[in-house]
Amino acid sequence: MPPTANAAALIRHTVLLRPAIITTAFSKTFPMTTSRAVSRSCTVIPKVTSRTMASSCSSSSKGGLEKLPSSPVRLLRTTSSVRLWRRPHLLDHRTVALVPTMGALHSGHLSLIRRAARENHHVVVSIYVNPAQFGISEDLDSYPQTWDSDVAQLVKLDRELADDGDNLGRISAVFAPSTKEMYPGGFPGQEVDSKGSFVTITPVGELLEGRTRPTFFRGVATVCMKLFNVVQPERVYFGQKDVQQTVVIKRLVRDFLMPIEVVVGRTERDEKDGLALSSRNVYLGERRRQQATVLYRALRAAEGEYKKGGRKREGILRAAEGVVEGVKREEEGKGVEERVRFEVDYISLADPDTMEEIEEVDPARGGILSGAIKMLPVEKAREGEDLGHSGGPAVRLIDNIILEPEGGKEE
Ligand code: AMP
Repeated sequence: MPPTANAAALIRHTVLLRPAIITTAFSKTFPMTTSRAVSRSCTVIPKVTSRTMASSCSSSSKGGLEKLPSSPVRLLRTTSSVRLWRRPHLLDHRTVALVPTMGALHSGHLSLIRRAARENHHVVVSIYVNPAQFGISEDLDSYPQTWDSDVAQLVKLDRELADDGDNLGRISAVFAPSTKEMYPGGFPGQEVDSKGSFVTITPVGELLEGRTRPTFFRGVATVCMKLFNVVQPERVYFGQKDVQQTVVIKRLVRDFLMPIEVVVGRTERDEKDGLALSSRNVYLGERRRQQATVLYRALRAAEGEYKKGGRKREGILRAAEGVVEGVKREEEGKGVEERVRFEVDYISLADPDTMEEIEEVDPARGGILSGAIKMLPVEKAREGEDLGHSGGPAVRLIDNIILEPEGGKEE
């Protein structure tokens, strides 16, 4: 059972874990940046209203069927073309999986696609930067868009999948719609009080990430409802990296009686230091990238406490706090051209089904350790220093670790 004083407990711990080096109030999660320079090899696409994702792609188009270059993967841009593609597979009883993404693909996305291909006859990868899940002061304008690199990775992966006999299917189509296509009545806006057709999943969508980003899960649930309605997949694949999102999507599917299985793939991490792969890591630059593992290290310390037999919130979170404080002290001792500043948004110990804060882990249920930190812009750049995509704005990173129930998790 969740405790009665959840909110108070969370706030208490949030305050407890906020590093003292942060002296200025940080009201905006992401400063708006005007530069749209992308540090990886990519094609820069015009702003949200005219986002036609694939417009810069050199896709071949034979007989009206657009495909990714040198590949059988179909490129679908409209809901009607997806429906047309989907229908015969329904009649043939072929399973269709959907892997929703916002592009800027990395190995985390690819691992979900690999798993989907192992378990389904057809995989549809959607690439759509959904403006509804970005707050008005967030990084929609600078969100990395790497269409050419995404296409190249998908074509390569599809070949790999075709050569591997263990797969049931491969990538059959990429769905890259425009905002006009996804919001046929007109885009309702990114404000909290925007009027329009939205799906809200509460209370889980209001907690943790939802507290800091009040429109985020409304945007996610709305766009996923649309994608599910268009593609009509038997299975959808989401990463554990965004653990609260997986809980929201499971609720969406359950509560709206959708005949869809939600599959959660493990978090892919940097092999060397364990940083969770994220499209937003390109904003970090080398200096902040070094210390961006502080959240994962803190969560690992908390997990260690649980593994040693600790069950109480206080002891488990204290272990995380110790790591944060240690890194903070280390950074405070450095000069402005060397140090890294960060702010802990929250570190949470929550129930695996509700994401409500818990005072004690029930070993029969396990729990979810999750957190969010803001890596603040560097105070002073060194000469020639690469500060990251868009000049190294504040970057909000999230991560989590599942505390498995005793006796292992149920599959
Ligand atoms: P995004 O493009 O960031 O919206 O992510 C699309 C999907 O990829 C979501 O289900 C994410 O949870 C998943 N994903 C993102 N990063 C990772 C990662 N490091 N490991 C596994 N899945 C991930």
